[in-house]
Amino acid sequence: MKKTILFVLMGFMLSPLAQGQHSEQNHAERFEQLGPMLRSPNVYRTASGAPGHMYWQQKADHEIEVELDDENQSITGTQKVTYFNNSPDQLNYLWIQLDQNERAKDSDTHKIAPSKIDSRMSLRQLETILWHDLDLGYKINSVRDLQGNDIPVTINKTMMRLDLPEPLKAGETFEFRVDWSFNIHDRMSFIGGRPGYEYFEKDGNYLYTMAEWFPRMAVYSDFEGWQNKQFYGRGEFALTFGDYKVSITVPADHMVGSTGVLQNPEEVLSPTELDRWNQAQQAFDKPVVIRTQAEAERLEKGRAKDKKTWIFHAENVRDFAWTSSRKFIWDAMAVELGGKNVMAMSYYGKEGNPLWEQYSTRVVAHTLKSYSEKTFDYPYPVAISVEGSNGMEYPMICFNYGRPDEDGTYSEAVKYGMISVIIHEVGHNFFPMIVNSDERQWSWMDEGLNTFMQFMAEQEWDRDYPSRRGPAHKIVPYMRSEKHLLEPIMTNSENIIQFGPNAYAKPATALNILRETVMGRELFDYAFKEYSQRWKFKHPTPEDFFRTMEDASAVDLDWFWRGWFFGTEPVDMAISEVNHYKMDSKDPKEIKARQKEAFEREEDYISKAHNRNDIAQTVVESDPETRDFYNSFDRFRVTPEDEKEYKEFMARLSEKERELLNSGMNFYEITFENIGGLVMPLIIEFNYRDGTSEIERIPAEIWRLNESEVTKVFPKKKEVQSIVLDPYRETADIDEANNYWPRQQLPSRFELFKQNSGARGASTGDNPMKRARRR
Ligand SMILES: [Zn+2]
Repeated sequence: MKKTILFVLMGFMLSPLAQGQHSEQNHAERFEQLGPMLRSPNVYRTASGAPGHMYWQQKADHEIEVELDDENQSITGTQKVTYFNNSPDQLNYLWIQLDQNERAKDSDTHKIAPSKIDSRMSLRQLETILWHDLDLGYKINSVRDLQGNDIPVTINKTMMRLDLPEPLKAGETFEFRVDWSFNIHDRMSFIGGRPGYEYFEKDGNYLYTMAEWFPRMAVYSDFEGWQNKQFYGRGEFALTFGDYKVSITVPADHMVGSTGVLQNPEEVLSPTELDRWNQAQQAFDKPVVIRTQAEAERLEKGRAKDKKTWIFHAENVRDFAWTSSRKFIWDAMAVELGGKNVMAMSYYGKEGNPLWEQYSTRVVAHTLKSYSEKTFDYPYPVAISVEGSNGMEYPMICFNYGRPDEDGTYSEAVKYGMISVIIHEVGHNFFPMIVNSDERQWSWMDEGLNTFMQFMAEQEWDRDYPSRRGPAHKIVPYMRSEKHLLEPIMTNSENIIQFGPNAYAKPATALNILRETVMGRELFDYAFKEYSQRWKFKHPTPEDFFRTMEDASAVDLDWFWRGWFFGTEPVDMAISEVNHYKMDSKDPKEIKARQKEAFEREEDYISKAHNRNDIAQTVVESDPETRDFYNSFDRFRVTPEDEKEYKEFMARLSEKERELLNSGMNFYEITFENIGGLVMPLIIEFNYRDGTSEIERIPAEIWRLNESEVTKVFPKKKEVQSIVLDPYRETADIDEANNYWPRQQLPSRFELFKQNSGARGASTGDNPMKRARRR
């Protein structure tokens, strides 16, 4: 009971701010478990987020012979596929992806693309609307068994069903051959797309980036059955792991870079190049140039009539891509990772220099180290960056952009754009090439995780690296978008309106916040690594990620996934009220002094009022008896009774209570309001009158009983001058003006935006936005 006496406090409100709006439903479900929103765990995927004891996945091995026709920009291939049915299920048919058909005449991609006429239309925009009758898409010449018997197939746009002659039982293998060809398209034209060719008018050469080039097995899984959702162009790929032997026949003066390890360097490289290639494998400090710019420029001028066949092997890859051109300069260096040497390499035309010779291979090496440290040692033997005027990833090889101006000069933006895209695309080796998620369904599982990793690798590359995505405050403009322009991160790729912010920036930011502000680096890094290791060379789902992050950290994150991944609400937290209290010491000397001060303040006020209107004063002065009475009696005097009472009171207190009473402690009762909806930890900065400051961090669970408003008392020895919520801008709060006590007028921010006058990294193309697109 003493406590209640003690805490009868003399409070005075320092900041009588208006009460915030109270939502009708203070206690919603933001802290409930995701429960039925997640797939049930089973024998294939455990409730802890790990592969289950009966986990299985399919496998598809490929032997492909392919020939590039540089005269007609077309390609012809024949491939043998060995499909391993590791599932417990019997299969009556197989689904095969025909991505090239996205550009075929009957493609739905063009049909479902909305279009409209603006007052200003670029030729490219018009071309996109006109969509010429192009001879693109696969020509499937035959699908046969190894005895040469035709196998019936049904082609549905970008998917081909192969009807098995007899059901493929669990554990059985089926082999078949597909012969095909297609015209390669100009990816720099209005058609766009990831693979294709770029034509260089000045020297009349082509640079081919060959991806989505062979019919690829669809994924059959425990969680999806066949993933045969049509390819519309955005939702990327779901692919089956397997081993590849690929023979690529190209003009003899071409240089080929590819997924896998070159099997016949002595047949395709000159003796000098072979020599340099061997040197490069021992070069750990800097890249060795294997084909020089001078050599490449000489080759650019010729046109070899004969051909060479490059043979590559790759093990345990989900895809296979390659590039070919006589324009290529090639450099390489070795990187040691986990006791093994990996070759970091780059292929680029002279248009990429001097940037590419300086940075590309070094950035590849840096990326492998940075990502390996946080996940697992990069397991493949090579990692390649190709200058291809776009950004797209494949196992061991990726295509990137970033070209200086013709005079060799470049802006910081071009340089950092190039470094960023190389980190990003090389980084995709980890997500989704090795941690093989389903990109057709979830873009964030690869783009989001990878953009998060990219941010860390960028920050390690350079102090104050100008990262575009990652820091919390950079997602604020997106989070402020109108509701109808937002959808949860957990949305299928094709249905996302603002793709970059939703699939890349928001998940990357969320993970950054999770690491820095919610979990802390130690717990986060361990759990993230655990996820990577559990699912490398496997097919994870979102549940596996969400569950592993909790399972390995003992941090309940359902509220976080719910808010950041399943919801669209922004963070807007506010300080709506601050009350400053001091404890009543019960010491009559103090009490009386304070009362006197208050009285005099009032007297002063009254006398001032009297001076304005001196009637009352006259009354007081005309009554000397009353005046004498007041003069002789000091009601603010401490009487012996007061002192006695105080002494008795103090005697009743324990030592500890007396100490507390005499401490002069300040109590700040702060009311926080959750205006945005997305719950987050409270990060509170107290700035004291003596010039020092202090940060307190309160977990998000403070909101669990009332999701719209919470009040908490902060005892402080020192007196507080000002309070700032989220002082380091960690939570992506969309309105920071209400984060201050006392309120501060914040300048509204706008970003100075300079329109890029040319295309990204110079050269061709008239739409910098499109060209800058990164996948
Ligand atoms: Zn990407």
